[in-house]
Amino acid sequence: MADLHDMTVAELAAGLKKKDFSAVEVATRFLARMGGNPHNAFLDIHSETTLAQAQASDDKIAKGNAGPLEGVPIAHKDIFVTKDFATTAGSKILKDYRSPFDATVVSKLREAGMVTLGKLNCDEFAMGSANENSAYGAVTNPWDTTRIPGGSSGGSAAAIAARLAPAATGTDTGGSIRQPAAFCGITGIKPTYGRASRYGMVAFASSLDQAGPMARSAEDCALLLSAMCGPDLDRDSTSLNVANEDFSRLLAVPAGDKPLATAGKDGGPLRIGVPGEWLGAGSQMAFDSGAPARRSDGTDIEVQRRIEEALAHYASLGAELVEVSLPQAQLSIPVYYIVCAAEASSNLSRFDGVKFGHRAKEFSDLADMYQRTRSEGFGDEVKRRIMIGSYVLSHGYYDAYYLQAQKIRRMIAQDFQKAFAQCDVIAGPVAPTTAWKLGDKSDDPVANYLADIFTLPASLAGLPCMSIPVGLGDMGMPVGMQLIGNYLQEAQLLSVAHRFQQVTAFHDATPEGA
Ligand code: GLN
Repeated sequence: MADLHDMTVAELAAGLKKKDFSAVEVATRFLARMGGNPHNAFLDIHSETTLAQAQASDDKIAKGNAGPLEGVPIAHKDIFVTKDFATTAGSKILKDYRSPFDATVVSKLREAGMVTLGKLNCDEFAMGSANENSAYGAVTNPWDTTRIPGGSSGGSAAAIAARLAPAATGTDTGGSIRQPAAFCGITGIKPTYGRASRYGMVAFASSLDQAGPMARSAEDCALLLSAMCGPDLDRDSTSLNVANEDFSRLLAVPAGDKPLATAGKDGGPLRIGVPGEWLGAGSQMAFDSGAPARRSDGTDIEVQRRIEEALAHYASLGAELVEVSLPQAQLSIPVYYIVCAAEASSNLSRFDGVKFGHRAKEFSDLADMYQRTRSEGFGDEVKRRIMIGSYVLSHGYYDAYYLQAQKIRRMIAQDFQKAFAQCDVIAGPVAPTTAWKLGDKSDDPVANYLADIFTLPASLAGLPCMSIPVGLGDMGMPVGMQLIGNYLQEAQLLSVAHRFQQVTAFHDATPEGA
């Protein structure tokens, strides 16, 4: 039997049900590993609360009324509000804040029987690509502690890679589940926008924010996603009114050594669309003569190679690779950083020192109180986005920036629909590089924004998308491949990822020392 902390969610759930070990034993093991807070992954831990939840799970198992994931531990990104743990959203302005209620996603996972290990570090209000924007310090990457874990769900990815938790929640506004999953060698999925309730998720950019699970495998993500999703119409106005699904239902292996030869539409081969702009013989493939390890668009050759190898693997399983085009995807960076800043400037107006969170100690009048509270409470990146957002929404600039961005956002979504006429899923890189060194880009916001080029398009379109590990790059750092499905096709997306993980071991690789 594997060590408890090396088990997947599926293995833990099965072992708990069979009473091979108890929920208290499992929780105790993870709490011990979390001691000393390795990688600065956690922001709040309460062993007594965790152990009490584990004991309650053991009681349910003994009585025979266990939930599907009864007793399996999970940790939550500190963007989800929780009654029993503090919620800071990685910001000083919410230091020690305690919510009177649990986010819907948190309560759904509790109802499924999951035990909460604590709250995970993240970029302030989920704004970032490196987890260096947390007011509580950066998170380090378990594969190389001199490197970033990715962001904004960096604590979630680092905790799973370091075996501090078997599973975690993340949120993805423009890549924050996929990119840290890729950088830490784990698996993560962002469902279709509206699948998971945003109630109790501290809002960053409401038209993009979406919760999703992060774990070691697609199989685990399917189990977690099935417990997280479902309509929440009374509490989230953008919640989709579609019944929740069992996202594991397509994981069973079809017969034969070419399982993908019949996994596409009408029993034909699964067609994987590869955007020519990302990997094809297009202009971005031209190598930069000055830096042979990097393409002219900034993508590392090592990343490209790992993706191409993974695609070849898919072809050997019977998939058909077809070139598709996403012509407007290259505009995602300006579009996203206008839209998300606009929405953030509005969402973050609630942090004014009146209703909750930090309030400046000294002030002369109300306006001065607002100003001092927000100056003291928000970090640089958050202030930058509030300023950009207020600017693009202001009179005279709204049409020039915000409206234009919304129009191009629509065109990006339409490009995907044209592409999906030719294929079942789309594959490409998650990020142009592997995890960079701590501090390398911390003074350069634009360098951080550029690293989001491959994750932003699916976010802007609201499509389900995931990251799976496909091996290590030259520096020994994990590379992630992105898989994008059409709306509500999460079950298919997870089965496509699962097929790969059944015949490869990249997702099982463990960083040294973990
Ligand atoms: N890196 C992107 C940003 O900084 C995405 C963040 C996210 O998905 N929460 O906004």
